[in-house]
Formats: sequence, structure tokens, C-alpha cells
Amino acid sequence: MYLSTFGDNTLFPEPSAFTLADKDFLTGKSIQVLKSFKRKEKIAHITGEVNDIISPDSVQIGPEQHLHDPYVLGMLTHSCDPNTYFDVKNRHLVAAKSILENEFLTIDYTQTEDYLFRQFQCRCKTAKCKGWIHGRKEAQVKRSEGGEI
Ligand SMILES: [Zn+2]
Repeated sequence: MYLSTFGDNTLFPEPSAFTLADKDFLTGKSIQVLKSFKRKEKIAHITGEVNDIISPDSVQIGPEQHLHDPYVLGMLTHSCDPNTYFDVKNRHLVAAKSILENEFLTIDYTQTEDYLFRQFQCRCKTAKCKGWIHGRKEAQVKRSEGGEI
């Protein structure tokens, strides 16, 4: 899933365990697992360029520090009750609950982001849904042309 130029870290996502598949019409492509993971199991080591720019595929790893990963983290769909979380210190994607084969991976964008690239109306349909999704340090900016997840 990562380019060979990133090296050959054995903890990088194995192509045999993950695939990029069409989730639904609104979401488009997202990451689906081809094997199960136990709760708290390390799913993969994450890598990417770090700079101070917020983009659709970046994850905040510190004040004004954003890790850009268009291959794995950037492909995860938001959920307010996600099945993964990002261990920022170790750069690991970890199972937040047990994940079954063929499930799509989800993550809660609000756990890491002070400011989102774009706020949006969540459609995760979980009991914990927060509705309008925005960063921890920003006010809700609802616009009529607001983004979709
Ligand atoms: Zn939600």
C-alpha cells in the first residue's frame, strides 16, 4: 500500500491484509481489511511527509505538525464510533475494537485534529454520532454548501 521508496518496514500495511474498495456512493473508496484484528491489535505502521499544512489526507501529530498519508490514513472514513485510532507517538494504526474480515476501517477525525481541512455533516449513523464534524479548536462553520463525508 506504501510506495517502495518508503522502505520495507515489516509493519507497513501488507497488501494481503488490506484492499481499497468502494464503500458506498457518498464515501467512494475506503480501506477494507481482508483479515480480522483483535481489539488493541496494531494494524499497521503509518508513514508520510510531515509539514505544517492541513490537507484532506493529513493527520495532526503535534502543534502545527501534520503527517500526510494519502495511501492509508488519508483513505480512512470518519466515524464517531470508529474501529481504529491513530497512536500518534508510535505512528501506529490500532484496532479500537475487534474488526472482522471485510469490514471497512474507520477513524474519528476529531481525536487528532484541532482544525479540519473541511467541516462536514457526519453520516456514520452510529449511536455516538456527533452530527456536524469540526476540529477541537474551531467553531462550527455550517455553510449551506457544507461538505459531505
Ligand atoms: Zn458520526
